[in-house]
Amino acid sequence: MDNTKMHKSLGIDLKAHDTLIRALPELFKECFLNKEQDLKSLSYFYSVVADIHGTRVKELIEHKNKGPVIGSFCIYVPEEIILAIGGQLVGLCAGADFWVPYGEQIVPKNLCPLIKAGIGAKFSKTCPYFQVIDLLIGENTCDGKKKAWEILSDMVEMYIMDMPNKKSNSGLKLWQEEVKSLCNFLEKKFSKPISFDSLLKAVQKVNAKRSALNRLYETRKNSPTPISGIDTLLVTQIGFYDDTERYTKMVETLAKECEEKALSNSKSNDKKRILVTGSPMVVPNWKVHHVIETSGADVVVEENCTGTRYFKDNVSIENSLAKEDLLKNISDRYIRNINCACFSPNTDREEEILKICKDYKVDGIVYASLSFCTTYMIEAEKIRKVAKKNNIPMITVESDYSFSDLGQLRTRIEAFIENL
Ligand code: SF4
Ligand code: SF4
Repeated sequence: MDNTKMHKSLGIDLKAHDTLIRALPELFKECFLNKEQDLKSLSYFYSVVADIHGTRVKELIEHKNKGPVIGSFCIYVPEEIILAIGGQLVGLCAGADFWVPYGEQIVPKNLCPLIKAGIGAKFSKTCPYFQVIDLLIGENTCDGKKKAWEILSDMVEMYIMDMPNKKSNSGLKLWQEEVKSLCNFLEKKFSKPISFDSLLKAVQKVNAKRSALNRLYETRKNSPTPISGIDTLLVTQIGFYDDTERYTKMVETLAKECEEKALSNSKSNDKKRILVTGSPMVVPNWKVHHVIETSGADVVVEENCTGTRYFKDNVSIENSLAKEDLLKNISDRYIRNINCACFSPNTDREEEILKICKDYKVDGIVYASLSFCTTYMIEAEKIRKVAKKNNIPMITVESDYSFSDLGQLRTRIEAFIENL
């Protein structure tokens, strides 16, 4: 499909966009197509990535006749409220190295690649998702993001949610107020009141998506795992911008196929089982998984925002009789279940990692932090101590989106796996 006309209408810099999009097929081939694959249901997810700036962008443009398209950079932004207003939420991925030099023209080099690529994607006018959104919802999580919103708000309309630093009673209260304020703001801005029914329906939709992902991840507890880590990462990444209902159905189909494969699998597998944790890994950042899985181990679970944190636990609808009850339950689910390193202390994350290691029979932890992601880099020390106490080997790697450190990364990860 030729998307030139559509991209032109979005104000895309077509020449720069061609360069960006040319790099993707090679990377995709290397990470996904050059390996054995027997899960038929994955073809949907592969086709979504192959057409990343095509069909879905067209759908979003069409959606704008019915409701807004809203972007975000963080899983704290509650999708339920955006769906309840008749909107579509798009996770702006910012995982491509291509955008980093554009970002570095505006912000310091010693910032995490996600922030630089996010700013670069907008500044370079090469991301159709960034071009299509009516509003960007930011959140005051890490310092880099807080300051990035000031830059981005000159380029795109923004609404910013404040975040507590502690999960204390006052922290929970602050977040409840922020969720309510977001709801009020969107109702006014798009002149659409959110009813109890529309919010309940939205909660059920997002809960169904989380449950489908949970079902898929459950299959990875089997040994051997029926699906590779890199394929699961891709599936989760797509959840950030695909249509929620269609995506849920596709994940359910895939989970069912994985369940059947796990049941019929009589072969044993002595591959080491790895937990990846740390900063989020957004499309097309598949580097760490690719290195681990081409070094002879299986990534069986990810404790990060493109892993379990994205779908862990649903919003409760029990005893919800009014919109206010649902809003409270939404805020509770997000604040209690997402253990971002921006919180201090973040002991829930330590406990969660230990639980995951046990449930998924993990042999070793790869703690992968994006370069200059200070919060996750510092928190690695706490996780290292907890892992050591529980005799779980752990390696810390720090990397950006470029491939210049691929050799060094492979050498370290191979040595780690060999010693497990
Ligand atoms: S790591 Fe923290 S700031 Fe980043 S997406 Fe996750 S919750 Fe949001
Ligand atoms: S939490 Fe880390 S990865 Fe996320 S935006 Fe901040 S510095 Fe970047």
